[in-house]
Amino acid sequence: MTRKIDILDTTLRDGEQSPGCSMNTQEKVIVARELLRLGVDVIEAGFPVSSPGDFRAVSEIGSVVGDQAIVAAFSRAVDADIEAAADALKTAARPRIITGIGVSPVHMAEKLHMSEDEVVDCTAHAVAHAKELVDDVEFYAEDAGRADSDFLVRVVQAVVDAGATVVNIPDTTGYCLPDEYGALVRKVIEGVRGIENVKVAVHAHNDLGLATALTLAGVHNGATQVECTINGLGERAGNTALEEIVMAIRMHGEVLDAHTDIVTSEITRASRLVSRVTGMSVQANKAIVGANAFAHSSGIHQDGVLKARATYEIIDPAEVGASGSELILSSRSGHAALRHRLQELGYTFNDKDFESVYERFLEIADQKKEVYDEDLESIVQERQRDIEAIYTLNALQIQCGDPLVPTAVATITDAAGVKHVVSTTGTGPVDAAYKAIDKVVGIESELQEFAVKAITRGIDAIGEVTVRITAQDGRVYNGRGADNDIIVSSAKAYINAINRMIQAQQRSRA
Ligand code: MN
Repeated sequence: MTRKIDILDTTLRDGEQSPGCSMNTQEKVIVARELLRLGVDVIEAGFPVSSPGDFRAVSEIGSVVGDQAIVAAFSRAVDADIEAAADALKTAARPRIITGIGVSPVHMAEKLHMSEDEVVDCTAHAVAHAKELVDDVEFYAEDAGRADSDFLVRVVQAVVDAGATVVNIPDTTGYCLPDEYGALVRKVIEGVRGIENVKVAVHAHNDLGLATALTLAGVHNGATQVECTINGLGERAGNTALEEIVMAIRMHGEVLDAHTDIVTSEITRASRLVSRVTGMSVQANKAIVGANAFAHSSGIHQDGVLKARATYEIIDPAEVGASGSELILSSRSGHAALRHRLQELGYTFNDKDFESVYERFLEIADQKKEVYDEDLESIVQERQRDIEAIYTLNALQIQCGDPLVPTAVATITDAAGVKHVVSTTGTGPVDAAYKAIDKVVGIESELQEFAVKAITRGIDAIGEVTVRITAQDGRVYNGRGADNDIIVSSAKAYINAINRMIQAQQRSRA
Protein backbone atom coordinates (compact mmCIF):
# COMPACT_ATOMS: atom_id res chain seq x y z
CA MET A 1 0.00 0.00 0.00
CA THR A 2 1.27 3.45 -0.92
CA ARG A 3 1.38 6.36 1.55
CA LYS A 4 -1.94 8.11 2.15
CA ILE A 5 -1.60 11.82 1.35
CA ASP A 6 -4.03 14.06 3.23
CA ILE A 7 -5.71 16.75 1.18
CA LEU A 8 -6.18 20.07 2.96
CA ASP A 9 -8.43 22.28 0.89
CA THR A 10 -7.99 25.99 1.47
CA THR A 11 -10.44 27.35 -1.12
CA LEU A 12 -12.38 28.98 1.72
CA ARG A 13 -9.30 30.72 3.19
CA ASP A 14 -6.39 31.17 0.76
CA GLY A 15 -8.74 30.89 -2.24
CA GLU A 16 -11.18 33.40 -0.86
CA GLN A 17 -8.33 35.91 -0.55
CA SER A 18 -8.14 36.28 -4.34
CA PRO A 19 -9.49 39.63 -5.53
CA GLY A 20 -13.23 39.50 -6.13
CA CYS A 21 -13.67 35.99 -4.72
CA SER A 22 -15.03 36.79 -1.28
CA MET A 23 -17.95 34.55 -0.28
CA ASN A 24 -20.65 35.02 2.32
CA THR A 25 -21.32 32.39 4.99
CA GLN A 26 -24.04 30.70 3.01
CA GLU A 27 -21.84 30.41 -0.07
CA LYS A 28 -18.99 29.03 2.05
CA VAL A 29 -21.30 26.36 3.45
CA ILE A 30 -22.31 25.35 -0.09
CA VAL A 31 -18.64 24.96 -1.01
CA ALA A 32 -17.90 23.07 2.23
CA ARG A 33 -20.64 20.54 1.44
CA GLU A 34 -19.10 19.94 -1.97
CA LEU A 35 -15.66 19.50 -0.34
CA LEU A 36 -17.20 16.76 1.79
CA ARG A 37 -18.55 15.01 -1.30
CA LEU A 38 -15.04 15.22 -2.75
CA GLY A 39 -13.72 13.54 0.37
CA VAL A 40 -11.09 16.09 1.44
CA ASP A 41 -9.39 15.30 4.75
CA VAL A 42 -9.14 18.87 6.06
CA ILE A 43 -11.25 21.93 5.26
CA GLU A 44 -9.45 25.18 6.07
CA ALA A 45 -12.55 27.23 6.67
CA GLY A 46 -11.29 30.76 7.31
CA PHE A 47 -9.36 33.26 9.40
CA PRO A 48 -11.70 33.95 12.37
CA VAL A 49 -9.96 37.00 13.85
CA SER A 50 -10.01 38.81 10.49
CA SER A 51 -13.74 39.66 10.55
CA PRO A 52 -17.01 38.71 12.28
CA GLY A 53 -18.16 37.22 8.95
CA ASP A 54 -15.14 34.91 8.79
CA PHE A 55 -15.63 33.90 12.41
CA ARG A 56 -19.28 33.04 11.74
CA ALA A 57 -18.42 31.07 8.60
CA VAL A 58 -15.84 28.93 10.43
CA SER A 59 -18.26 28.07 13.21
CA GLU A 60 -21.12 27.39 10.79
CA ILE A 61 -18.89 25.06 8.74
CA GLY A 62 -17.78 23.33 11.94
CA SER A 63 -21.36 22.37 12.69
CA VAL A 64 -22.16 21.31 9.11
CA VAL A 65 -19.06 19.12 8.72
CA GLY A 66 -19.43 17.10 11.94
CA ASP A 67 -16.89 14.30 12.11
CA GLN A 68 -16.63 13.88 8.33
CA ALA A 69 -13.47 15.99 8.07
CA ILE A 70 -11.08 18.07 10.14
CA VAL A 71 -12.08 21.73 10.17
CA ALA A 72 -9.14 24.11 10.41
CA ALA A 73 -8.96 27.81 11.23
CA PHE A 74 -6.10 30.10 10.32
CA SER A 75 -4.26 32.45 12.68
CA ARG A 76 -1.04 34.43 12.98
CA ALA A 77 1.31 33.57 15.86
CA VAL A 78 -0.60 36.01 18.06
CA ASP A 79 -2.59 35.00 21.17
CA ALA A 80 -5.75 36.88 20.16
CA ASP A 81 -5.76 35.23 16.71
CA ILE A 82 -5.26 31.77 18.21
CA GLU A 83 -8.01 32.31 20.79
CA ALA A 84 -10.46 33.54 18.13
CA ALA A 85 -9.65 30.45 16.05
CA ALA A 86 -10.31 28.18 19.04
CA ASP A 87 -13.61 29.95 19.79
CA ALA A 88 -14.82 29.72 16.19
CA LEU A 89 -13.92 26.01 16.15
CA LYS A 90 -16.02 25.17 19.23
CA THR A 91 -18.70 23.73 16.91
CA ALA A 92 -16.23 21.41 15.15
CA ALA A 93 -15.95 17.72 16.07
CA ARG A 94 -12.35 17.60 14.82
CA PRO A 95 -10.90 21.11 15.20
CA ARG A 96 -7.43 22.17 14.07
CA ILE A 97 -5.75 25.50 14.72
CA ILE A 98 -3.29 26.62 12.07
CA THR A 99 -0.75 29.15 13.29
CA GLY A 100 2.60 30.42 12.09
CA ILE A 101 4.98 33.23 11.27
CA GLY A 102 7.36 34.42 8.54
CA VAL A 103 10.76 32.72 8.61
CA SER A 104 12.58 34.20 5.60
CA PRO A 105 15.14 37.01 6.07
CA VAL A 106 12.90 39.52 4.27
CA HIS A 107 9.84 38.65 6.38
CA MET A 108 11.75 38.79 9.66
CA ALA A 109 13.61 42.02 8.88
CA GLU A 110 11.04 44.02 6.92
CA LYS A 111 7.66 42.80 8.13
CA LEU A 112 8.15 41.44 11.64
CA HIS A 113 11.25 43.39 12.78
CA MET A 114 12.25 40.32 14.77
CA SER A 115 15.54 38.45 15.21
CA GLU A 116 15.86 34.71 14.57
CA ASP A 117 15.78 34.02 18.32
CA GLU A 118 12.64 36.08 18.75
CA VAL A 119 10.91 34.21 15.90
CA VAL A 120 11.81 30.84 17.45
CA ASP A 121 10.47 31.93 20.86
CA CYS A 122 7.32 33.35 19.33
CA THR A 123 6.54 30.16 17.35
CA ALA A 124 7.14 27.89 20.32
CA HIS A 125 4.86 30.05 22.45
CA ALA A 126 2.12 30.19 19.77
CA VAL A 127 2.07 26.43 19.24
CA ALA A 128 2.08 25.74 22.98
CA HIS A 129 -0.79 28.20 23.47
CA ALA A 130 -2.85 26.68 20.63
CA LYS A 131 -2.12 23.25 22.07
CA GLU A 132 -3.79 24.30 25.35
CA LEU A 133 -6.98 24.98 23.37
CA VAL A 134 -7.12 22.07 20.86
CA ASP A 135 -5.14 18.85 20.35
CA ASP A 136 -4.48 19.28 16.65
CA VAL A 137 -2.15 22.20 15.87
CA GLU A 138 -0.60 22.91 12.48
CA PHE A 139 2.38 25.24 12.25
CA TYR A 140 3.26 27.06 9.01
CA ALA A 141 6.70 28.52 8.38
CA GLU A 142 5.61 31.38 6.14
CA ASP A 143 7.87 31.99 3.12
CA ALA A 144 9.89 28.84 3.96
CA GLY A 145 10.81 28.69 0.27
CA ARG A 146 13.08 31.72 0.71
CA ALA A 147 14.27 30.92 4.24
CA ASP A 148 17.73 29.88 5.35
CA SER A 149 17.38 26.09 5.51
CA ASP A 150 19.37 25.66 8.73
CA PHE A 151 17.20 28.25 10.43
CA LEU A 152 14.06 26.54 9.08
CA VAL A 153 15.18 23.25 10.68
CA ARG A 154 15.69 25.10 13.97
CA VAL A 155 12.20 26.66 13.87
CA VAL A 156 10.55 23.36 12.99
CA GLN A 157 12.42 21.62 15.81
CA ALA A 158 11.05 24.21 18.24
CA VAL A 159 7.43 23.72 17.13
CA VAL A 160 7.68 19.94 17.09
CA ASP A 161 9.03 20.11 20.64
CA ALA A 162 6.11 22.41 21.53
CA GLY A 163 3.61 19.80 20.36
CA ALA A 164 2.69 20.68 16.73
CA THR A 165 0.90 17.78 14.99
CA VAL A 166 1.40 19.10 11.45
CA VAL A 167 4.27 21.18 10.09
CA ASN A 168 3.70 23.10 6.86
CA ILE A 169 6.73 24.16 4.77
CA PRO A 170 5.10 26.58 2.30
CA ASP A 171 6.58 28.26 -0.74
CA THR A 172 4.38 31.27 -0.01
CA THR A 173 5.68 33.31 -2.93
CA GLY A 174 5.95 30.50 -5.49
CA TYR A 175 9.66 31.28 -5.85
CA CYS A 176 11.47 27.92 -5.73
CA LEU A 177 12.45 25.45 -8.39
CA PRO A 178 10.80 22.07 -7.75
CA ASP A 179 14.07 20.18 -7.04
CA GLU A 180 15.23 22.88 -4.66
CA TYR A 181 11.89 22.83 -2.80
CA GLY A 182 11.91 19.03 -2.61
CA ALA A 183 15.41 19.16 -1.10
CA LEU A 184 14.24 21.69 1.49
CA VAL A 185 11.37 19.42 2.56
CA ARG A 186 13.76 16.49 2.77
CA LYS A 187 16.25 18.48 4.83
CA VAL A 188 13.52 19.29 7.39
CA ILE A 189 12.40 15.66 7.54
CA GLU A 190 15.96 14.44 8.00
CA GLY A 191 17.05 17.17 10.40
CA VAL A 192 14.24 17.41 12.97
CA ARG A 193 14.03 15.00 15.91
CA GLY A 194 10.55 13.56 16.40
CA ILE A 195 9.33 14.60 12.92
CA GLU A 196 8.24 11.00 12.29
CA ASN A 197 5.36 11.63 14.70
CA VAL A 198 4.03 14.68 12.84
CA LYS A 199 2.66 15.22 9.39
CA VAL A 200 4.72 17.31 7.00
CA ALA A 201 2.65 19.50 4.70
CA VAL A 202 3.45 21.32 1.47
CA HIS A 203 1.73 24.49 0.27
CA ALA A 204 2.77 26.28 -2.90
CA HIS A 205 1.75 29.29 -4.96
CA ASN A 206 1.71 29.55 -8.72
CA ASP A 207 3.71 32.72 -9.36
CA LEU A 208 5.97 30.90 -11.84
CA GLY A 209 3.30 28.41 -12.93
CA LEU A 210 5.05 25.77 -10.80
CA ALA A 211 2.62 25.25 -7.91
CA THR A 212 1.69 21.68 -8.84
CA ALA A 213 5.30 20.76 -9.66
CA LEU A 214 6.48 22.17 -6.32
CA THR A 215 3.82 20.26 -4.43
CA LEU A 216 4.68 17.02 -6.23
CA ALA A 217 8.36 17.52 -5.38
CA GLY A 218 7.32 17.91 -1.74
CA VAL A 219 5.30 14.68 -1.83
CA HIS A 220 8.15 12.87 -3.57
CA ASN A 221 10.46 13.96 -0.75
CA GLY A 222 8.32 12.80 2.13
CA ALA A 223 5.42 15.25 2.65
CA THR A 224 2.14 13.53 3.58
CA GLN A 225 -0.24 16.50 3.47
CA VAL A 226 -0.92 18.67 0.44
CA GLU A 227 -2.59 22.08 0.61
CA CYS A 228 -4.56 23.16 -2.41
CA THR A 229 -7.67 24.90 -3.74
CA ILE A 230 -10.36 24.11 -6.29
CA ASN A 231 -9.44 25.63 -9.69
CA GLY A 232 -6.16 26.81 -8.16
CA LEU A 233 -7.91 29.84 -6.71
CA GLY A 234 -5.78 31.95 -4.38
CA GLU A 235 -3.62 34.99 -3.76
CA ARG A 236 -2.03 36.45 -6.91
CA ALA A 237 -1.46 33.63 -9.43
CA GLY A 238 -3.20 31.21 -7.07
CA ASN A 239 -2.46 28.06 -5.09
CA THR A 240 -1.80 24.50 -6.18
CA ALA A 241 -4.98 23.28 -7.89
CA LEU A 242 -6.62 20.35 -6.08
CA GLU A 243 -7.68 18.73 -9.36
CA GLU A 244 -4.13 18.83 -10.75
CA ILE A 245 -2.28 17.47 -7.74
CA VAL A 246 -4.88 14.78 -7.08
CA MET A 247 -4.83 13.52 -10.67
CA ALA A 248 -1.03 13.68 -10.87
CA ILE A 249 -0.77 11.57 -7.71
CA ARG A 250 -3.39 9.19 -9.06
CA MET A 251 -1.55 8.80 -12.34
CA HIS A 252 1.91 8.35 -10.79
CA GLY A 253 1.05 6.78 -7.44
CA GLU A 254 3.61 4.00 -7.70
CA VAL A 255 6.55 6.30 -8.42
CA LEU A 256 5.49 8.75 -5.74
CA ASP A 257 4.51 6.03 -3.26
CA ALA A 258 1.32 8.00 -2.69
CA HIS A 259 -2.47 7.98 -2.99
CA THR A 260 -5.32 10.21 -1.85
CA ASP A 261 -8.91 9.44 -0.84
CA ILE A 262 -10.45 12.04 -3.16
CA VAL A 263 -13.59 10.99 -5.04
CA THR A 264 -12.27 12.12 -8.41
CA SER A 265 -15.63 11.84 -10.17
CA GLU A 266 -16.72 14.91 -8.13
CA ILE A 267 -13.91 17.09 -9.47
CA THR A 268 -15.73 18.65 -12.42
CA ARG A 269 -18.78 19.50 -10.36
CA ALA A 270 -16.65 21.01 -7.59
CA SER A 271 -14.85 23.12 -10.16
CA ARG A 272 -18.07 24.44 -11.68
CA LEU A 273 -19.59 25.11 -8.30
CA VAL A 274 -16.63 27.14 -7.06
CA SER A 275 -16.51 29.02 -10.33
CA ARG A 276 -20.20 29.91 -10.04
CA VAL A 277 -20.11 30.82 -6.38
CA THR A 278 -17.06 33.08 -6.74
CA GLY A 279 -17.90 34.39 -10.22
CA MET A 280 -14.32 33.47 -11.21
CA SER A 281 -14.40 31.63 -14.52
CA VAL A 282 -12.01 28.83 -15.41
CA GLN A 283 -9.80 29.30 -18.48
CA ALA A 284 -10.72 26.93 -21.31
CA ASN A 285 -7.26 25.34 -21.46
CA LYS A 286 -6.98 24.79 -17.68
CA ALA A 287 -5.66 21.31 -16.86
CA ILE A 288 -8.31 18.75 -15.83
CA VAL A 289 -11.28 21.14 -15.50
CA GLY A 290 -11.01 23.54 -18.46
CA ALA A 291 -13.68 23.37 -21.15
CA ASN A 292 -11.04 22.13 -23.62
CA ALA A 293 -9.26 19.72 -21.26
CA PHE A 294 -10.68 16.74 -23.14
CA ALA A 295 -11.35 18.34 -26.53
CA HIS A 296 -9.45 17.18 -29.59
CA SER A 297 -9.48 19.35 -32.66
CA SER A 298 -6.59 18.34 -34.88
CA GLY A 299 -7.58 15.69 -37.42
CA ILE A 300 -4.65 13.48 -36.48
CA HIS A 301 -5.62 13.59 -32.80
CA GLN A 302 -9.31 12.97 -33.49
CA ASP A 303 -8.46 10.00 -35.66
CA GLY A 304 -6.21 8.60 -32.93
CA VAL A 305 -8.74 9.07 -30.13
CA LEU A 306 -11.45 7.39 -32.18
CA LYS A 307 -9.19 4.38 -32.75
CA ALA A 308 -8.00 4.24 -29.15
CA ARG A 309 -8.64 6.88 -26.51
CA ALA A 310 -5.24 6.31 -24.91
CA THR A 311 -3.42 7.64 -27.98
CA TYR A 312 -3.94 11.25 -26.93
CA GLU A 313 -5.91 11.15 -23.68
CA ILE A 314 -4.19 10.19 -20.44
CA ILE A 315 -7.33 10.64 -18.33
CA ASP A 316 -10.75 9.20 -19.04
CA PRO A 317 -13.10 12.23 -18.71
CA ALA A 318 -15.47 10.02 -16.68
CA GLU A 319 -12.79 9.67 -14.00
CA VAL A 320 -13.14 13.36 -13.18
CA GLY A 321 -16.89 13.51 -13.79
CA ALA A 322 -16.51 15.32 -17.12
CA SER A 323 -18.18 12.72 -19.30
CA GLY A 324 -20.72 15.26 -20.49
CA SER A 325 -24.06 16.10 -19.02
CA GLU A 326 -26.88 13.71 -19.59
CA LEU A 327 -30.21 14.82 -20.89
CA ILE A 328 -32.37 14.22 -17.89
CA LEU A 329 -35.47 16.28 -17.38
CA SER A 330 -38.16 18.05 -19.37
CA SER A 331 -41.30 20.03 -18.60
CA ARG A 332 -43.14 16.72 -18.19
CA SER A 333 -40.86 15.72 -15.32
CA GLY A 334 -42.78 15.95 -12.07
CA HIS A 335 -41.88 17.01 -8.56
CA ALA A 336 -40.54 13.58 -7.65
CA ALA A 337 -38.18 13.36 -10.62
CA LEU A 338 -36.79 16.83 -9.97
CA ARG A 339 -36.39 16.24 -6.26
CA HIS A 340 -34.64 12.93 -6.93
CA ARG A 341 -32.19 14.42 -9.43
CA LEU A 342 -31.42 17.37 -7.14
CA GLN A 343 -30.73 14.93 -4.33
CA GLU A 344 -28.32 13.03 -6.55
CA LEU A 345 -26.58 16.33 -7.23
CA GLY A 346 -26.36 16.87 -3.48
CA TYR A 347 -29.09 19.47 -2.94
CA THR A 348 -31.97 19.10 -0.51
CA PHE A 349 -34.71 21.64 0.17
CA ASN A 350 -37.62 22.17 2.51
CA ASP A 351 -41.03 22.09 0.79
CA LYS A 352 -41.38 25.83 0.43
CA ASP A 353 -37.93 26.34 -1.11
CA PHE A 354 -38.36 23.30 -3.30
CA GLU A 355 -41.58 24.78 -4.69
CA SER A 356 -39.76 27.91 -5.82
CA VAL A 357 -37.01 25.83 -7.43
CA TYR A 358 -39.66 23.76 -9.19
CA GLU A 359 -41.38 26.86 -10.56
CA ARG A 360 -38.11 28.15 -11.97
CA PHE A 361 -37.39 24.69 -13.38
CA LEU A 362 -40.72 24.71 -15.24
CA GLU A 363 -39.96 28.13 -16.70
CA ILE A 364 -36.61 26.89 -17.99
CA ALA A 365 -38.09 23.63 -19.23
CA ASP A 366 -40.75 25.52 -21.16
CA GLN A 367 -38.12 27.65 -22.82
CA LYS A 368 -35.60 25.01 -23.68
CA LYS A 369 -37.28 21.59 -23.58
CA GLU A 370 -34.15 19.71 -22.47
CA VAL A 371 -32.89 20.48 -18.99
CA TYR A 372 -29.31 19.46 -18.16
CA ASP A 373 -27.54 19.12 -14.82
CA GLU A 374 -25.76 22.42 -15.46
CA ASP A 375 -29.16 24.12 -15.81
CA LEU A 376 -30.33 22.65 -12.50
CA GLU A 377 -27.19 23.75 -10.73
CA SER A 378 -27.54 27.21 -12.11
CA ILE A 379 -31.17 27.39 -10.84
CA VAL A 380 -30.21 26.14 -7.40
CA GLN A 381 -27.30 28.51 -6.99
CA GLU A 382 -29.37 31.42 -8.20
CA ARG A 383 -31.98 30.55 -5.52
CA GLN A 384 -29.43 30.10 -2.78
CA ARG A 385 -27.95 33.46 -3.62
CA ASP A 386 -31.31 35.20 -3.70
CA ILE A 387 -31.84 34.46 -0.03
CA GLU A 388 -29.19 36.98 0.96
CA ALA A 389 -29.82 39.35 -1.93
CA ILE A 390 -30.09 43.04 -1.20
CA TYR A 391 -31.39 44.13 -4.60
CA THR A 392 -33.45 41.75 -6.72
CA LEU A 393 -34.29 42.17 -10.38
CA ASN A 394 -38.03 41.55 -10.81
CA ALA A 395 -38.49 42.53 -14.41
CA LEU A 396 -36.52 43.94 -17.28
CA GLN A 397 -37.81 45.18 -20.58
CA ILE A 398 -35.47 46.31 -23.32
CA GLN A 399 -36.06 48.06 -26.60
CA CYS A 400 -33.21 48.13 -29.03
CA GLY A 401 -32.34 47.82 -32.70
CA ASP A 402 -31.43 50.07 -35.58
CA PRO A 403 -32.44 53.00 -35.55
CA LEU A 404 -33.93 52.83 -32.04
CA VAL A 405 -32.40 54.43 -28.96
CA PRO A 406 -31.66 51.49 -26.62
CA THR A 407 -34.02 51.84 -23.67
CA ALA A 408 -34.40 49.76 -20.51
CA VAL A 409 -37.31 49.63 -18.10
CA ALA A 410 -36.32 47.78 -14.93
CA THR A 411 -38.24 46.80 -11.82
CA ILE A 412 -35.92 46.26 -8.87
CA THR A 413 -36.79 45.44 -5.24
CA ASP A 414 -34.47 46.68 -2.51
CA ALA A 415 -33.66 45.08 0.86
CA ALA A 416 -36.58 46.88 2.51
CA GLY A 417 -38.97 45.33 -0.01
CA VAL A 418 -39.59 48.60 -1.84
CA LYS A 419 -40.17 48.25 -5.59
CA HIS A 420 -38.48 50.74 -7.89
CA VAL A 421 -39.44 51.13 -11.53
CA VAL A 422 -36.89 53.07 -13.58
CA SER A 423 -36.37 53.80 -17.23
CA THR A 424 -33.09 54.82 -18.91
CA THR A 425 -31.46 54.99 -22.28
CA GLY A 426 -27.94 53.87 -23.11
CA THR A 427 -25.47 53.26 -25.92
CA GLY A 428 -26.63 49.64 -26.14
CA PRO A 429 -29.07 47.33 -24.35
CA VAL A 430 -26.61 46.27 -21.62
CA ASP A 431 -25.53 49.84 -21.02
CA ALA A 432 -29.18 50.92 -20.72
CA ALA A 433 -29.90 48.09 -18.25
CA TYR A 434 -26.83 48.92 -16.15
CA LYS A 435 -27.72 52.60 -16.03
CA ALA A 436 -31.19 51.64 -14.79
CA ILE A 437 -29.65 49.55 -12.01
CA ASP A 438 -27.20 52.35 -11.11
CA LYS A 439 -30.15 54.75 -10.82
CA VAL A 440 -31.80 52.57 -8.15
CA VAL A 441 -28.65 51.56 -6.24
CA GLY A 442 -27.02 54.99 -6.21
CA ILE A 443 -23.51 53.69 -5.37
CA GLU A 444 -20.63 54.36 -7.72
CA SER A 445 -18.61 51.45 -9.01
CA GLU A 446 -16.60 50.87 -12.15
CA LEU A 447 -17.20 47.98 -14.53
CA GLN A 448 -13.84 46.29 -15.26
CA GLU A 449 -14.74 43.15 -17.13
CA PHE A 450 -17.77 41.71 -18.83
CA ALA A 451 -17.90 38.22 -20.34
CA VAL A 452 -20.69 36.09 -21.79
CA LYS A 453 -20.60 32.37 -22.37
CA ALA A 454 -23.07 29.58 -23.00
CA ILE A 455 -23.10 27.11 -20.13
CA THR A 456 -25.28 24.53 -21.80
CA ARG A 457 -25.51 23.35 -25.37
CA GLY A 458 -27.58 24.48 -28.31
CA ILE A 459 -29.06 27.75 -29.50
CA ASP A 460 -31.47 27.80 -26.54
CA ALA A 461 -28.61 27.40 -24.05
CA ILE A 462 -28.51 29.34 -20.81
CA GLY A 463 -26.17 32.29 -21.24
CA GLU A 464 -23.93 33.06 -18.32
CA VAL A 465 -22.54 36.52 -17.76
CA THR A 466 -19.70 37.27 -15.38
CA VAL A 467 -18.73 40.80 -14.46
CA ARG A 468 -16.02 42.35 -12.36
CA ILE A 469 -16.56 45.72 -10.73
CA THR A 470 -14.28 47.96 -8.68
CA ALA A 471 -15.77 49.79 -5.73
CA GLN A 472 -14.70 53.29 -4.74
CA ASP A 473 -12.30 51.86 -2.12
CA GLY A 474 -10.53 49.94 -4.90
CA ARG A 475 -11.80 46.50 -3.90
CA VAL A 476 -12.90 44.14 -6.64
CA TYR A 477 -16.16 42.14 -6.74
CA ASN A 478 -17.27 39.45 -9.16
CA GLY A 479 -20.87 38.87 -10.14
CA ARG A 480 -22.56 36.17 -12.12
CA GLY A 481 -25.98 35.79 -13.70
CA ALA A 482 -27.56 33.12 -15.85
CA ASP A 483 -30.67 33.20 -17.99
CA ASN A 484 -31.85 32.24 -21.46
CA ASP A 485 -31.81 35.94 -22.30
CA ILE A 486 -28.27 37.32 -22.16
CA ILE A 487 -29.43 40.86 -21.43
CA VAL A 488 -31.26 39.52 -18.36
CA SER A 489 -28.13 37.50 -17.46
CA SER A 490 -26.12 40.71 -17.78
CA ALA A 491 -28.44 42.60 -15.45
CA LYS A 492 -28.47 39.74 -12.92
CA ALA A 493 -24.67 39.52 -12.96
CA TYR A 494 -24.34 43.24 -12.33
CA ILE A 495 -26.85 43.18 -9.47
CA ASN A 496 -25.07 40.13 -8.04
CA ALA A 497 -21.73 42.00 -8.02
CA ILE A 498 -23.37 45.03 -6.41
CA ASN A 499 -25.00 42.82 -3.74
CA ARG A 500 -21.62 41.27 -2.96
CA MET A 501 -20.06 44.71 -2.69
CA ILE A 502 -22.75 45.91 -0.28
CA GLN A 503 -22.62 42.68 1.76
CA ALA A 504 -18.83 42.89 2.08
CA GLN A 505 -19.09 46.52 3.18
CA GLN A 506 -21.73 45.55 5.77
CA ARG A 507 -19.63 42.60 7.00
CA SER A 508 -16.56 44.74 7.52
CA ARG A 509 -18.66 47.22 9.52
CA ALA A 510 -20.36 44.48 11.57
MN1 MN B 1 -0.94 30.54 0.79
